[in-house]
Amino acid sequence: MDTPTGHDRHGLYPEATSVEHIGRNLAEVRARIAAACRRAGRDPAGVRLLPVSKTQPESRLRLAHAAGCRLLGENKVQEAHLKWQAMQDLADLRWSLIGHLQTNKAGLVARFASEFQALDSLHLAAALDRRLQLEGRALDVFVQVNTSGEASKYGLAPEDLPAFVRALPAFSALRVRGLMTLALFSSDAARVRQCFRLLHGLRERLRQDAPSGLVFDELSMGMSGDFEIAVEEGATVVRVGQAIFGARALPDGHYWPGAAP
Ligand SMILES: *Cc1c(COP(=O)(O)O)cnc(C)c1O
Repeated sequence: MDTPTGHDRHGLYPEATSVEHIGRNLAEVRARIAAACRRAGRDPAGVRLLPVSKTQPESRLRLAHAAGCRLLGENKVQEAHLKWQAMQDLADLRWSLIGHLQTNKAGLVARFASEFQALDSLHLAAALDRRLQLEGRALDVFVQVNTSGEASKYGLAPEDLPAFVRALPAFSALRVRGLMTLALFSSDAARVRQCFRLLHGLRERLRQDAPSGLVFDELSMGMSGDFEIAVEEGATVVRVGQAIFGARALPDGHYWPGAAP
């Protein structure tokens, strides 16, 4: 039987309000990742769980830290920056930005983020690189690809990827790690799987053709509703919010243009 999506569960995850509850949810998601790995003949150690804390209040993020989370995903840079400022006392907490970024906010990202998963233009790459050089920092980056073909989704078109990647070695403060995508937001598991397969295939091609010095090891794909399918298709990073923290108050259309209301 095909692994179903859980996209119809969006908005139904119970709110996690204690360290224990978040810890339980983390363990449950990890167990589901491990089960998906077994189905695919993969080692669970090859899949990193990135907890996505967007819209969650600082108090909830502190619970997540107490539950063992050391890297948190946020999709809006100002929100992430405010949280970073408020939690300077947690010196080992690092930040991954997973949402579209306007070039004029590159300086903010350069100041505090450890990872940026939504690189989708050379203009942005240049701005990030320049600001990172000024800060004396480097940043792990993932190139975002639009695998669903939806006009509303961010990311490079698959056919634009090779030329884009050839230009990346010029930006020495960007440590290219791999590719990222958001699958079609659908309860049709076969169509969701197709998006993940496409990203995997693109990475295989890049591994052969990418400029020397660039390593494409990572595939960031899968979220609460579809991470098991993503793991079956080779994800090395899954970005999971609601299944760990509980449902968000706002509908998904608020975060991804074109998502179901
Ligand atoms: C919010 C978000 C996620 C996580 O979605 P959940 O439904 O909370 O698991 C993953 N990726 C991106 C880019 C996001 O913005």
